[in-house]
Amino acid sequence: MTIKTPITLAYGDGIGPEIMGAVLKILDAAQATLQFDVIEVGEKIYLQGESSGIPDSAWQSLKRTRVLLKGPITTPQGSGYKSLNVTMRKTLGLFANVRPCISYAPYVPTKFPHINLVIIRENEEDTYAGIEHRETDEAYECLKLITRPGCEQIIRYAFEYAQKFNRKRVTCLSKDNIMKMTDGLFHRIFNEIAQEYPQIEHNHLIVDIGTALIATHPERFDVIVTLNLYGDIISDVAAQVAGSVGLAGSANIGNHMAMFEAIHGSAPDIAGKNIANPSGLLNAAIQMLIHINQPKTATAIENAWLKTIEDGIHTADIYAPNLSQQKVGTNAFAQAVIDRLGQEPTHFPKVYYEPGSYAKIQCYGGKPAVRSKKLLVGADVFIDNSDDIPAEELAKQFLAFDNTLKLVVITSRGLKIWPNSTIEEPYLRYCCCRFQSARTLDQLTPITQADVIKLYNKFNNLNVEVTKIANLYTYDGQLGFTLAQGQ
Ligand code: NAD
Repeated sequence: MTIKTPITLAYGDGIGPEIMGAVLKILDAAQATLQFDVIEVGEKIYLQGESSGIPDSAWQSLKRTRVLLKGPITTPQGSGYKSLNVTMRKTLGLFANVRPCISYAPYVPTKFPHINLVIIRENEEDTYAGIEHRETDEAYECLKLITRPGCEQIIRYAFEYAQKFNRKRVTCLSKDNIMKMTDGLFHRIFNEIAQEYPQIEHNHLIVDIGTALIATHPERFDVIVTLNLYGDIISDVAAQVAGSVGLAGSANIGNHMAMFEAIHGSAPDIAGKNIANPSGLLNAAIQMLIHINQPKTATAIENAWLKTIEDGIHTADIYAPNLSQQKVGTNAFAQAVIDRLGQEPTHFPKVYYEPGSYAKIQCYGGKPAVRSKKLLVGADVFIDNSDDIPAEELAKQFLAFDNTLKLVVITSRGLKIWPNSTIEEPYLRYCCCRFQSARTLDQLTPITQADVIKLYNKFNNLNVEVTKIANLYTYDGQLGFTLAQGQ
């Protein structure tokens, strides 16, 4: 008897039930060995007062099956609900977002007929940790959090993916010319891990020129690995230039769980009309079949789908009178794919996923072999200076503070405003006073947390509002902080 793989299934909102119904018919006709456990998540659950949009029973199902095929979810606008997708990715440890981006020219119009790239986006860190604070009346802050294990995990995943799927090159995108510590770490780890895969080419581009090249020469890219925010932006750029936003599926992969969905939303404007294109969700389901090691079924469905597209059987969103043969609705499109099961495309290259070779990719961030020698050497004290007290005056209070911590610089938005500043009108209302154990960096000596508390007390006594203190450390003698512009 064939053992069926248990899959948690959420129909989703809007067009979700229609496109999921179509995909399930195709999976069934292709004899995918799956057993579905249907859960309810999304709009209905939000409206019942469950703010995550995910009831307990859904979590239980996910823990059991570890695979989710999900229709698009409507996120109520402006009501403060957190994105269900972000909650799921983080709670389930889905660290990699994998988005293949392919052009289907000449059947789907695009200026770039040869796009075949995969974006592998880090899914849990960066500004998407969602750690934000309002520091003063006027100043807001969002923390960009990057960890070594997080970088190792996603970058290793990208190389493993390239290896498994016979890709030739991995390109890293970062902005390490500006964010030298966070993006710098990502780039450094990319260079380190690339050495372990000598058969795969690797290169790095600054994300701005990288994005411009994706928009103008997308066919130059193969696998792209990048941080969360950049990945979010370039995924849509790439999908758009391929001309196929409605066709793309995406996988959210963790070591123990995975979630598969279309990249588009719930399209409430066309819900219930039987006109939505089920291809995005179908392509996600194909990725799911590969992930759970049913490559034969994935091969059969993808070839049948490619044949349907090149036979010109198109839903309204990709229908073009001069390129298409027949405009069909959701159900008729699904039937056209089913009718072509067992056939192969003649224009597009046929796909072939070899049985047994696509077991899940598991990647972990390693632990450093030796912990570095970490020394506390100073503190950055961020203050709400809404009364615009001039930097000179602030500095005077601390010049004779004590002999452990010395005020070395005051900055505003990263720029030095004391001492010797030439800025005509500095922004004073949110500034940072940097205290170090020595004025020069090569003479820094260790201090204690008690010294920092004394400093805090001093600000308190002066009635200056401290909004945040960031400790300054050295690691094996290397600075663990950036210098202010002009310091
Ligand atoms: P959308 O992707 O739902 O729709 C954008 C446009 O594309 C609409 O004109 C729509 O009709 C069309 N479209 C989308 N999918 C289509 C398909 N399969 N076939 C044919 N046409 C299709 O984006 P939106 O309107 O910005 O968002 C609607 C809702 O979806 C919002 O609540 C949003 O939060 C949610 N959303 C969910 C997800 C997800 O669950 N992963 C992703 C994006 C947006």
